[in-house]
Amino acid sequence: MEKFEVIIAGAGLAGLAAAYTLASQGTEVLVLERGDYPGAKNVSGGRIYLNPIRGLFPGLFDEAPLERFIVHEGFSLLAKERAVTLGYSGDELRKEPHQSFSILRSKFDRWFAEQAESKGAMLLNKVRVENLIEEKGRIVGVVAGGDELRGDVVVICDGVLSLLSEKAGLRTAPLPKNYALGIKEVIKITKEAVDERFGLQGNEGAAHLYAGEVTKGRFGGGFIYTNLDSVSLGVVIGIDALLKHEELDAPAVIDSFKERPEISGLIRGGETVEYSAHLIPEGGYDAVGKLYGEGVLAAGDAAGFALNIGFTVRGMEYALASGCYAARAILQAKEGGDFSSRGLSVYRNILEESFVLQDLRNFREAPRVIDNPRFFGHYPEMIGDIMKDVYGVPEGPKERLYLTVKRRLSLKELWAIFMDLRGVMKI
Ligand SMILES: Cc1cc2nc3c(=O)[nH]c(=O)nc-3n(C[C@H](O)[C@H](O)[C@H](O)COP(=O)(O)OP(=O)(O)OC[C@H]3O[C@@H](n4cnc5c(N)ncnc54)[C@H](O)[C@@H]3O)c2cc1C
Repeated sequence: MEKFEVIIAGAGLAGLAAAYTLASQGTEVLVLERGDYPGAKNVSGGRIYLNPIRGLFPGLFDEAPLERFIVHEGFSLLAKERAVTLGYSGDELRKEPHQSFSILRSKFDRWFAEQAESKGAMLLNKVRVENLIEEKGRIVGVVAGGDELRGDVVVICDGVLSLLSEKAGLRTAPLPKNYALGIKEVIKITKEAVDERFGLQGNEGAAHLYAGEVTKGRFGGGFIYTNLDSVSLGVVIGIDALLKHEELDAPAVIDSFKERPEISGLIRGGETVEYSAHLIPEGGYDAVGKLYGEGVLAAGDAAGFALNIGFTVRGMEYALASGCYAARAILQAKEGGDFSSRGLSVYRNILEESFVLQDLRNFREAPRVIDNPRFFGHYPEMIGDIMKDVYGVPEGPKERLYLTVKRRLSLKELWAIFMDLRGVMKI
């Protein structure tokens, strides 16, 4: 029977961050990944914010396979027949160190795995962790590929549905309201086409989010991120919305998104080179499970660390940071020779002091506030109608702008907007 100091289940960003940090400090670590290689089974819209995590991995990202740094932000409300768009670009986004980048996980995770291996981590691909080994109430290893592998600590990094966290008693069975389905395509076009269509130069990139008709007025949205010579395009739909509304056929939703006039020109002539679907944790702080137990820790999506506040969707840097913090907690526990729940409880303290749990707590209300049907159906149509009238020039005389807007904003409507804004003020 083989024994390791630390066994990590899952070589996504959380697992690799834990492995990299542990191996850098000379700890013997085995990473088990069910995919053919790290990144083979990982899905992300593909936008990573490096500011909160640069300090955790000094110098590491200088050589990373990052696609483009994002200098143009866009957000569109899509109505049935029109779209209203808000754009942002600022000088700070062009200055180094850049805030955020587009990445392709199949490249990035593979590269990160090589960095962890170069520090001494052992990685086994095509090996699924089937179960945890529990003795006297304590996790002492895993069953993988029919073999029993023992470790002082097991770090669960198996992603969003994390059956292993359930088995370890760190969380209960998933509730549909805490998850969304993401479907994503990588569409290859030339670098020149990306630059020209999105108004970019050099390695500049653009990120654009869409809400409204993209999910037929239901909870969710769409995104496009520019890569060097491709775009990552996708839709995200709440699982509750999918269960309640039969007309929401997920593959058809991404097809009709691609056919929208606002989108079709951006991907014209492109070839879909990657198509994937995956769940996203959307429950925020209240859906975070127990983070550690006897001989076990959970990090990344497996712990529920992801945050959607409408304008940003984040999970990758929480996975990287929590993996690193899990490793730091293990290193402290190792010093004290105590891998019990008490020895590992420092993990929670580290997370509490970090941006991970502070962000999730600051935006605790976000899932409830965002899950408002008026944001996805009513407002895109209403704001679209106002813009149509504002920009419209009829055959006869044009109405005063004040009257044009007032006609759409009755007292009842203004009251409803006020109530919605009260909700928004909570995030
Ligand atoms: C469509 C979509 C768009 C997204 N967009 C963004 C975005 O733009 N920005 C952002 O920051 N986040 C985004 N996210 C969220 C982000 O991708 C996740 O939060 C992040 O990938 C979590 O990393 P992780 O390491 O915890 O899990 P994962 O990356 O899912 O890694 C888990 C790993 O564990 C392996 N595994 C699973 N079970 C086992 C097992 N039993 N044995 C061995 N290995 C196992 C898997 O193969 C996988 O490699 C998006 C997610 C989706 C689905």
